[in-house]
Amino acid sequence: MKLSKPKYIFVTGGVASSLGKGIISASIARLLQARGYSVTIQKLDPYINVDPGTLNPYEHGECYVTEDGTETDLDLGHYERFTSITTTRANNVTTGKIYKSVIEKERKGEYLGKTVQVIPHITDEIKRRIQMLGQTKQYDVIITEIGGTVGDIESLPFIESVRQLRYQLGYRNTALVHLTLIPFMAASGELKTKPTQHSVKALLENGLQPDILVLRTEHPLTRELRRKVALFCNVDPEAVMESIDVPTIYEVPLRMHEQHLDEVVLSKLDIPAEQEPDLDTWRAFVEKVKHPGSTVEIALVGKYTELPDAYKSISESFIHAGAVNDCKVRLRYVNSEKLTPENVAEQLGDKAGILVAPGFGNRGIDGKITAVRFARENGIPFFGICLGMQCAVIEFARNVLGFEDANSVEMESSTTHPVIDLMEEQKGVTAKGGTMRLGGYPCSLVEGSKVAEAYGTTSVTERHRHRYEFNSDYLAQFEAAGMRAAGVNPDTGLVEVVEIPEHPWFVGTQYHPEYKSTVRTPHPLFVAFVAAALKYRNK
Ligand code: GLN
Repeated sequence: MKLSKPKYIFVTGGVASSLGKGIISASIARLLQARGYSVTIQKLDPYINVDPGTLNPYEHGECYVTEDGTETDLDLGHYERFTSITTTRANNVTTGKIYKSVIEKERKGEYLGKTVQVIPHITDEIKRRIQMLGQTKQYDVIITEIGGTVGDIESLPFIESVRQLRYQLGYRNTALVHLTLIPFMAASGELKTKPTQHSVKALLENGLQPDILVLRTEHPLTRELRRKVALFCNVDPEAVMESIDVPTIYEVPLRMHEQHLDEVVLSKLDIPAEQEPDLDTWRAFVEKVKHPGSTVEIALVGKYTELPDAYKSISESFIHAGAVNDCKVRLRYVNSEKLTPENVAEQLGDKAGILVAPGFGNRGIDGKITAVRFARENGIPFFGICLGMQCAVIEFARNVLGFEDANSVEMESSTTHPVIDLMEEQKGVTAKGGTMRLGGYPCSLVEGSKVAEAYGTTSVTERHRHRYEFNSDYLAQFEAAGMRAAGVNPDTGLVEVVEIPEHPWFVGTQYHPEYKSTVRTPHPLFVAFVAAALKYRNK
């Protein structure tokens, strides 16, 4: 930490959702980091769920998991991938979390005699959560992204808390970045600023004046248009940024830097912009992503294939790993519910690698097992993650060991061969929220295994999110038949990685490597899997 006390940046959105507030927040963080400041990012989500752990991925996309075992919004994945910071439970706050703690305090009698209200009790709790990160004394700048769109009933308490904090902390210690959309009217060929003006008015009605506007657009914005927006929204013309669609999200920090967003932010926060940002390695990465030497097709077999956001961390990990291998990974989403032994060759036969995705429940499981068998029997590089690893174990038990009804007890509790079983610690757990085995656990890898070779070490920590595990009662039989435990938890002996040494590249991990891949440190297993896919394709 360089500054004597932390500064705060708030990021809000207007006009429409899904404009990319998470990417803008992560880009600002990356630019400030590149100028030598320590930064963290927090997301405030207006929904009432305590966390997104029990949400279907079709609601808000993937559920991300932090090192400390919190199930969070997928934007935290962007924060980590852009900045390599490690986020924690403090980095994602929902309305549910706020109300839960206020109601718990009320029950304990902490407000004895008082009527508990949205203002001040809920807003005080929100302000406490925002400042908690500042109190760690680790960060020069805390960026807080407010989910939803300004004007939503749900986000009002968050907006009011930002208003109060700006007043209390001082306007030179806080900055407000507002992201909006400039729609293009094809019929008249015009870009329209009115929705932006209205959305800034909505902010003003709530007592907030934005310092910086970031305008999402599909077409370049003229100087006149920017001046007009500046004039009608009380913002300096140089603080109006264009955020035009780019081929890769990783280009956004560079586009923002070209428009001096980092300098403008620093000047609003009264921080000297002495050091030019060092963006050389970032630029080199973006160049690699944009101009790959070759392409390779990999199938992602899962049941949430209609919404690629459901597998965000996996698809981003492939971008990082592709850059290392100088290739573009074309991910083909294959719906496991539609995959059968009859059509598998047609669907997967031309792919250079097959990844079977994480997931829950019975739906689509047969297709996943079919995909595993196809990869195993045809020597196609295979990567199974969490449920994907469990499917690999079930497939091996059925088709190699001959245990016809082998299954996970999650799918069939009465199976005579429960090769995937409920973990001891999960027996007796009935509540669904936040009760899985979550977050970082150590894993010891077998010397000489594919995974040890990929990581270049035999001791790693990876993040988990599951209730079921490989049933070690069967381990000897699996190993005798050619599937080995290549990684185990050193404390509990749980099998975390399986491999088939005879196969060119067949790896299943109970943990989720995708949560730890970043631009700075692409995940070694994704890098090795893509390398194996390239080798297979070139053969
Ligand atoms: N449903 C499986 C379990 O709970 C796998 C979970 C996952 O893939 N994240 O163990």
